[in-house]
Amino acid sequence: METRKRRLSQIGIAAGLSIMAIMLMIAPAIATRGQQPQQGQPGQLQIPVTPPYESPKAEPRVITPSAAPGAAPSDATILFDGSNLSGWRSVRFGGDARWEVRDGYMQVKPGTGDIASKFEFGDCQLHIEWSTPSVVKGQGQGRGNSGIFLMEQYEVQVLDSYNNKTYFHGQAGSIYKQYAPLVNASRKPGEWQTYDIIFSAPEFDEIGKPTKRARITVIHNGILIQNNVEIHGNTWNDRAPLYTAHGPKGALKLQDHGDLVRYRNIWVRSL
Ligand code: MG
Repeated sequence: METRKRRLSQIGIAAGLSIMAIMLMIAPAIATRGQQPQQGQPGQLQIPVTPPYESPKAEPRVITPSAAPGAAPSDATILFDGSNLSGWRSVRFGGDARWEVRDGYMQVKPGTGDIASKFEFGDCQLHIEWSTPSVVKGQGQGRGNSGIFLMEQYEVQVLDSYNNKTYFHGQAGSIYKQYAPLVNASRKPGEWQTYDIIFSAPEFDEIGKPTKRARITVIHNGILIQNNVEIHGNTWNDRAPLYTAHGPKGALKLQDHGDLVRYRNIWVRSL
């Protein structure tokens, strides 16, 4: 008798569990029945849009864009306005940057080394204009080579890549030795070119391990050439990329690679 009772109660539990399992399986179907794609106009499928989780609480800040395209908006920090190098230091020698300034641009002075901005930043939007020598000399990496290093670590290559072959992740607009540009949007040597860069800085834990990798988007002469790619680490020439821990802010470094590359109109917006 006892055994039969136990047996019946076991059957009861099993049946109960089965019903619960079936309910769990069909519940989502019932819940989403009201959200099924609906037919609107003939041939048109209407898919309900999920509303945003939360409405923004703060009104976007008002800033004043520049009157001229490419010039700094009201909330930018000007790194170089064409008049002097007071905002820059020599990486090799310390003290003042030793490049030349004339006619509204700065030019690499070969042998004086890289220069870096005194202003430091992390996440940012950067605008910078550059030109390679109009007198074409050398080839491959030896023609109009310089570079723009975010946080002094991560190089967006500057090179005369107009009719000048080199390895793809070393041409103008590459993230050096990591990503080739999506297209070659280079202007002719001697012509001014623009990079508009959106950079997201990496983060490190207390033992120096990256907890968040850097990301970068580059627009070259108005054309997207790097689309939010994840940077693998320092952009070395002779080693595989590897992250070396650094602080949350860093300078912008410009490279002296021995060629007479020019820069002008450099501004940054910290994000
Ligand atoms: Mg370079």
